[in-house]
Amino acid sequence: MNSGRVCVSVCADTLPDMLERAHQVESSADIVELRLDCLDPDQLDQFALPEGRFILTLRPTEQGGSSRLSAEERTRFWARVGPGAGADMEADVVEADAANKFDPLICSFHDFSGRLKDISASYDAIARSNASVLKIAVSVSDAADAIPVLQLLDRAKRDGRRMIPIAMGEAGKWTRILGLAHGAYLTYAALGSGSETAPGQISTDELLDVFRVKELDKSTEVYGIIAGDTTYTMSPYVHNAAFKSSDRNAVFVPFQVADLDRFIRRMVRPETREIDLNFHGFSVTNPYKQAVIQYLDDIDEAARKIGAVNTVKVVDGKLHGFNTDVTGFIEPLNSKFGELVDTRVAVFGAGGAARAAIYALKSNGATVTIFARDANKGHDLATEFQTNFEQLETGNSKLKTVLKPFDVIVNATPVGTRGQHDDESIATAEQLQHVDLVYDLIYNPAETRLIREAKAAGVETLGGFDMLIAQAIEQQKIWTGDLPNVGAMSAAARKKLDER
Ligand code: NAP
Repeated sequence: MNSGRVCVSVCADTLPDMLERAHQVESSADIVELRLDCLDPDQLDQFALPEGRFILTLRPTEQGGSSRLSAEERTRFWARVGPGAGADMEADVVEADAANKFDPLICSFHDFSGRLKDISASYDAIARSNASVLKIAVSVSDAADAIPVLQLLDRAKRDGRRMIPIAMGEAGKWTRILGLAHGAYLTYAALGSGSETAPGQISTDELLDVFRVKELDKSTEVYGIIAGDTTYTMSPYVHNAAFKSSDRNAVFVPFQVADLDRFIRRMVRPETREIDLNFHGFSVTNPYKQAVIQYLDDIDEAARKIGAVNTVKVVDGKLHGFNTDVTGFIEPLNSKFGELVDTRVAVFGAGGAARAAIYALKSNGATVTIFARDANKGHDLATEFQTNFEQLETGNSKLKTVLKPFDVIVNATPVGTRGQHDDESIATAEQLQHVDLVYDLIYNPAETRLIREAKAAGVETLGGFDMLIAQAIEQQKIWTGDLPNVGAMSAAARKKLDER
């Protein structure tokens, strides 16, 4: 539990619309930011302070807002409004007597360039004001670049100032989630998905119900996903549902990482880290499942044989690696299909998921044939795991033959994924007609084109959702030692997938 606030930021062209939006979040927000720079100019001229707990903001374009007013015009505006609300002003307009009129008075600095060199100088500039709260919002493209932003909390504490440190963008989301636990005055939230007023802003519902930001403190166990792109990951929903359901003081956070070495060195390893977030574990995904191995203190047998780690447990600063994709893959298949001894399986793809699938299938006695578009990769994988190999002839997903000699088909390629290859399939209904089961590891959409082709051929199907949950259950068991609430995890994932 912390004493920070969630401030919902609302933007609209007209004041009635803005107040209507503010009204929608009154019960969940501690305070609402009215982004007056979003208003049409005539609406701003007529602005009179409404009843309620508000922070007023009139952000100019050069600070990432929409107001085209000059500093003199903005100064005149601030002289005209209040008292009775908070205000967020830039250093060029904040004046000494504003501190008596607005509560809180925030003096803020924004940088959207992603290349800010001297954050300390930016802090100094706003600290010269007599604002009660200092706010710095800086765009970042790597999780580690957000460290100096959160470190400002220590400086502000020494200076006796309150602080709102925000790293903007997907890579900075962790500061929005963990800031309150480390003493931030407030964190901003969007009214809902699609209503963000700054890059990386998280919706009010997610901040409060998924990440439970107001319940976090410095003793909260922090888990997270390390990925090159965290935009579409389901892991925070699945794992936070498990933590919430067991009432564990733990949170699962997205870490969008551009440089794994820097992340491990600056944020994780106790000997070298520049910030201590109390990490207890990670989920690791593309493109780091193999690269992460060199940073681990030990690795379990399955992960070593596959050559990929998707789970890290942190104990006393040591990193232990596991691969739960193996169990995640095989358990749903065993439940649906039964024993796999001598079952003939075609695995499409030669990436990380295919490796886990092939290892699991071979361990269960199946005969595997790899279908891959890259002949070298396919051959190497087939040699490593002692399987058959067939190259996809056209260099893409198209098959020329009927998949007659196979009982089970596994799609471990992204072909069929929402937004990328929606209407593509690795095989047609005609090619699938002699198969018993099609297992598509893709979970978004729930029904891929491949699954539709299989159904048209009268073939049994299994989607990737069960694997998503099964591998996450294994991760929870590794991290906490307990069996998590599977129903809560599945429900959270389904809810999020339905929204997309
Ligand atoms: P990956 O390491 O990037 O491997 C993808 C593989 O698919 C590569 O061998 C790639 O070939 C091949 N491929 C890509 N596009 C293709 C196309 N158009 N035609 C034929 N082959 C193509 O990815 P991954 O981690 O293995 O994941 C693969 C899929 O499994 C993803 O869609 C992921 O969502 C899904 N998955 C699901 C779960 C789950 O829990 N349900 C877990 C893990 C993965 P090249 O090597 O030639 O590029």
